Amino acid sequence: MAVSIDLAMPADRPRPAMPPLPGLAGTEKPSLIGLDREHLAEALRGIGIPERQVRMRAGQLWHWLYLRGVSDFGAMANVSKDLRRTLEENFSIARPEMVEEKISVDGTRKWLFRFPARGAGRPVEVETVYIPEEGRGTLCVSSQVGCTLTCTFCHTGTQKLVRNLTSDEIVGQILMARERLGDLPDAATPAGAIVPSDGRMVSNVVMMGMGEPLYNFDNVKQALAVAADGEGISLSKRRITLSTSGVVPMIPRTGAEMGVMLAISLHAVRDDLRDVLVPINKKYPLAELLDACRSYPGLSNARRITFEYVMLKGVNDSLADARELVRLLKGIPAKINLIPFNPWPGSAYECSDWDQIERFADLVNQAGYASPIRTPRGRDIFAACGQLKSESERLRKTERLALEAAAAL
Ligand code: SAH
Ligand code: SF4
Repeated sequence: MAVSIDLAMPADRPRPAMPPLPGLAGTEKPSLIGLDREHLAEALRGIGIPERQVRMRAGQLWHWLYLRGVSDFGAMANVSKDLRRTLEENFSIARPEMVEEKISVDGTRKWLFRFPARGAGRPVEVETVYIPEEGRGTLCVSSQVGCTLTCTFCHTGTQKLVRNLTSDEIVGQILMARERLGDLPDAATPAGAIVPSDGRMVSNVVMMGMGEPLYNFDNVKQALAVAADGEGISLSKRRITLSTSGVVPMIPRTGAEMGVMLAISLHAVRDDLRDVLVPINKKYPLAELLDACRSYPGLSNARRITFEYVMLKGVNDSLADARELVRLLKGIPAKINLIPFNPWPGSAYECSDWDQIERFADLVNQAGYASPIRTPRGRDIFAACGQLKSESERLRKTERLALEAAAAL
């Protein structure tokens, strides 16, 4: 086996307590997907793998799961039949079920993935979006089913939180996307083959799907550690961006423990307006948020914070707002993404006029900040920022029966 990894813990250091493995209470088997190396080793010890073999076995599994992308223990050719059977009896490496795939005229893809029930809950569905661009492909990954926050311009915010996604469900979205895009090596490639890291379909991951990732910190952290591992999915941390609405107390830990790029959903430059648009602002107002940004670990001109600013006509798009934005961000290495508002049924806002967005962008740009206007992607399949999930839930809850009845006529 050509993988060499260091799973060993120094013998004299006490092992950290492990949280229970993700799995379904009672009957279902815990998943091996989404465990970082330490947890994977612990899972193997838990089924009686002798200590002297743990590191080697974990290395084999890591290789099959993340380099080769197998979803069946039977495919692990260099693992003995007996061990494959034991693994099969104790664990799952299943991926989510793909319920729906939609492809936009602009090439954006949206998948609806279903995950089994956890504990007493019900199966849940989330959406994951793939945005192909010149020279890169960005996967927009969900962290929660629904959201506890209620940003007034966001469709996801109209859905109550159903539950947090587990680490395996977060990594499962990446593996499924790679599989659907043909971004996994051929399973017939000889064991030990090195998968090229250039020219990959999924080159970037953004935690900008459904949910507030910093309200699901541990699972997101573990999932991103798996995604960034250089001998697996192997995404550089500079190509992973976590977007938060502003959970201030978790921002320093995000930098220190995850080390990924940070995006802040800013959207307003005054507390009275941000209190309405992004209600978490009432708890963590702008001054606190910007202080946390100023001291984000690893910040430099080469590692800037992205501030997301949705353009809402007559609400936050004046040139006075733009000037205040520049003033607020002074001293923070920053880039400002201007996002034309993506409408959804029942939304109370309109997108700013294009001319106004350009004037806003120019002013910010002249103050020395990159201020790209994000081209809306996948609007025709309801895959653009802030449009996720609700449609499928709405359909499932109230309209699917009506649609089915209509289709049966
Ligand atoms: N909960 C996290 C990440 C998911 S939202 C957060 O809020 O940062 C991803 C981005 O899309 C956020 O910046 C969000 O504010 C923005 N967004 C939400 N609804 C939108 C809409 N209708 N139009 C454009 N952007 C929207
Ligand atoms: Fe939740 Fe982010 Fe939408 Fe706000 S913008 S409701 S935090 S998903």
